[in-house]
Amino acid sequence: MSKELLKVEGLKLYYPIKGGVFGQTVNHVKAVDGISFTVNEGETVSLVGESGCGKSSAGRAILRLEEPTAGSVVFDGKDLVTLSKSEMRKVRKDLQIIFQDPYASINPRQTIVKVLEEAMQIQNILPREERRARAIELLEKVGLAAYQADRFPHEFSGGQRQRVGIARALSLNPKLIICDEPVSALDVSIRAQVLNLLKKLQKEFKLTYLFISHDLGVVRHISDRIMVMYLGHIVEIADKVSLFENSRHPYTRALLSAIPVPNPEKGRQRQRIILKGDVPSPINPPAGCRFHTRCLYVKDRCREEIPELRGGGHLANGHLVACHYFEEIEAGGGKTV
Ligand code: SF4
Repeated sequence: MSKELLKVEGLKLYYPIKGGVFGQTVNHVKAVDGISFTVNEGETVSLVGESGCGKSSAGRAILRLEEPTAGSVVFDGKDLVTLSKSEMRKVRKDLQIIFQDPYASINPRQTIVKVLEEAMQIQNILPREERRARAIELLEKVGLAAYQADRFPHEFSGGQRQRVGIARALSLNPKLIICDEPVSALDVSIRAQVLNLLKKLQKEFKLTYLFISHDLGVVRHISDRIMVMYLGHIVEIADKVSLFENSRHPYTRALLSAIPVPNPEKGRQRQRIILKGDVPSPINPPAGCRFHTRCLYVKDRCREEIPELRGGGHLANGHLVACHYFEEIEAGGGKTV
């Protein structure tokens, strides 16, 4: 069994809302509200959910790009939350992020080879005279050509710029990469190429990915395990096959029902589950189960008691669901409680 590389426990990230005459904190946006999970070495674990569910905030809190409000983030044996700024700077080379829009995080006045060389210089990786050759080697690994190394970011397409972002992350020899919606801004035709590249590099560089996406189709392509997030909580965790074939949380089922079936004429029909209402505000999330305002199976207990992630029923090992009634929903074929 592979080693546990990342262990997140009770992670919270609340953004203060300022107001009043003195600009004091009057409330909080509870973007991430007590999530716990692990990621093993060599795995790709995805965090999926609708826009605003807190998945990108979770990624930022893990990297301490935003200071967590509570919880621990143990990476390779160290609790990142307790590290000083200088200790955290040293750890950052092992823990990289690829953003949705790499252009926003790349200096437009630097050639792409300089972008990579500078990243290596900051972390003191390789002697100065070897950095350019390594940068060019990495650009070639991500599918760019050596003759493009001295071009500026604006001379590349969106897909090529994402390749530069990946090469920059790789230049620090990371152990874990947080991929935050890395293909959602790309054309559909380019997405599969970038996902396949990430998979290829994972094998070659022995990488571990925490993959953040709103798109279950993308997540299906790349993940070993999937975590579904709703309004700051994780509501279901399962390996890819269990999640797509045996999902148990009513919210996951609704998300899956919205994915088009490839060959409907061959008799594979999927009944679309339309959720009532909008996602409630993370400023005043509903008490009890966060999903109760939209759930087809809601009962009184759901309005009062937060369901813990738990196994049971006919779930595979490691498949966890945060719902008081998932066994009854399962027994009723997903129709009644
Ligand atoms: Fe629905 Fe209740 Fe389960 Fe929440 S706990 S998902 S409201 S049945």
